Parts: sequence; structure tokens; C-alpha cells
Amino acid sequence: MVDIRRLIQTVSVFLCNAWMLFPFTKNIYQGKLKSVCVPGLNCYSCPAATGACPLGSLQTFFAGIRPSFRAGSYHLGLYVIGTLGLVGGLVGRMPCAWVCPFGFMQELIHKIPSRKMEIPRFLSWVKYGVLVLFVILFPLVIVDVFGYGENWFCKYICPAGTLEAGLPLAFLQPHLRELWGALFYGKLAILVLLLVLMVYTRRPFCRVLCPLGAIYSLFNKVSVFRMVHYPDRCVRCGECYRNCPMGIKFYEGANQSDCIRCLQCLRKSCTYGAIGFSINGVGTIGPGPKEKTEAVSG
Ligand code: SF4
Ligand code: SF4
Repeated sequence: MVDIRRLIQTVSVFLCNAWMLFPFTKNIYQGKLKSVCVPGLNCYSCPAATGACPLGSLQTFFAGIRPSFRAGSYHLGLYVIGTLGLVGGLVGRMPCAWVCPFGFMQELIHKIPSRKMEIPRFLSWVKYGVLVLFVILFPLVIVDVFGYGENWFCKYICPAGTLEAGLPLAFLQPHLRELWGALFYGKLAILVLLLVLMVYTRRPFCRVLCPLGAIYSLFNKVSVFRMVHYPDRCVRCGECYRNCPMGIKFYEGANQSDCIRCLQCLRKSCTYGAIGFSINGVGTIGPGPKEKTEAVSG
């Protein structure tokens, strides 16, 4: 049977990167679609990218906030913050599981057979620091004489940018390799480290570093779509934890900040009907077969 999530993830990768003429143009697509933010992390400068990365757009907004406001232009900020608020308000962190190309890649790499390890939970807090410092504060306050800042996360950290833009563009335009220096090699080291970690741990970038996931996670407890836990049916067997791509112990509470709403626990793990979801707090769906409930609770 076709796994619907895998199918949507695959389609999303191609929709976000549909500009297949790049081997001939040897440059990035800059048509009208590029002004539209995709919901997941997908580098704007990837030669095949058809849309804009919301994280890059957010940094561009903060980096140019002074000149923009001087010119009376607020459009970019309203658009990006509105898009993130709308997506997060509706489904929380769900885009990470269903449409983010970089998240999909991590799940595929993790399938490589190896001894698996768990990421210490406290490291989940790092991404909020990255969000505050590299996406908001540094672009906002460290500016040149004209008042422009820089996209700090894109420039100094983003492994998706290195993989999807830095390396392919250097291949398409060999003269760019002459510009490689400490900055590029530093970012390459971050990418390689994360690629290795992806083999051994579940979604390390999403859980530790991703500022976009950090933004969406803020909506998990208040979004229209929410997960539901039925403690009276839960036997704490731990099956949800073993199969969760984010290493979440669902039985400790639904809608934890790292839950990406992949529905793996609901669809494939929990056979006790202890997991469901709700839309706007009503119409809870999928609590599981009643006879199992009675068997467990009785
Ligand atoms: S798989 Fe279901 S029954 Fe088992 S711990 Fe998770 S929620 Fe509880
Ligand atoms: S808790 Fe369930 S829905 Fe959330 S990320 Fe884990 S498996 Fe997916």
C-alpha cells in the first residue's frame, strides 16, 4: 500500500524544486513564483527552487527593516509573518513532516542501517536560541552604514543552503569555487556533521537547529489541528516513542513542541486507540476501535 505521507513528501520535493532547466541556464530561477514562500525549508538559491524559503525571507525582512521602514514599505514583513502565522495557526509543525524537503531527506538518510542513538532532550532548546540570535537579533541590529543587516542563519549555518545552493552552483559556475574560503568550509563542516548525525539519530537538524521548526512549534498547543491523547486507553507500551521520527514519548503528552504531526503514532504505532486528533478542539477523530478500549480499560 502506498504511504500517503511519503507520496506527499516526494511530490513536495519536486514542486519546491521544479525548475529543471537549470543545467542549461546555469543559474537560479527568478520568475514570478519566486515571490511565494514555500512552507518548508528549501533554499531560495537552489538552482531548481521555484519558491522562496520562509526563513530566508524572514531574515531579509529583519535585515532590511530600517531602509524598508524609511521607504514606508512593510509588505515583506507582513507577508512572511502572515504566512508563518497562518500555516502555524492552522496545523502547527505539520509542514516539517509532510512538505519540508530537508526533513524528508533526514528521514531517508536515517534508514541507512546503523546503531541508532537518542539526542539528549535539552538540546531541543538550542533551536530557539538560533531563531532569536541568527534569524532575528543579529540581522536586525548588526547593520552596515546604510542600515542593512545580513541573513545570518543563511550565511553562517544553513545546511540546506550549502547542499542545495552552495555546492550545485559551484558545479554549474566553476568560477565560484575561487570564492571558497573559511566561511564556505565552515558551513560544509556543519553539513557533513549533520549528514553523519542523520544516519545515527532521528531528524537531528529539526530537533536541535531548525529555526523554522522552532517557529511552527510555538503553535502546536493552540493550532486548529491538534493531536489528542486518551490516557485511559494508554498502556504506556512505548511503541509510539520507538516509531516516532522525532523521538517523542507521546504518552507524556500530546502536542509537545517537537511533534511534527506526521501521524505515524496514530496510523502505525498505537494499537490501543490511545491517539487521535482534533480540529479546533471539536470532532475528535480516530480514537481507535471501541472493543480495544473496553479490553484495555476493562
Ligand atoms: S503506543 Fe499508544 S498505548 Fe503505547 S504508549 Fe503510545 S499512546 Fe500509549
Ligand atoms: S508524536 Fe506522533 S505525530 Fe508527533 S512526531 Fe511523533 S509520531 Fe509523529
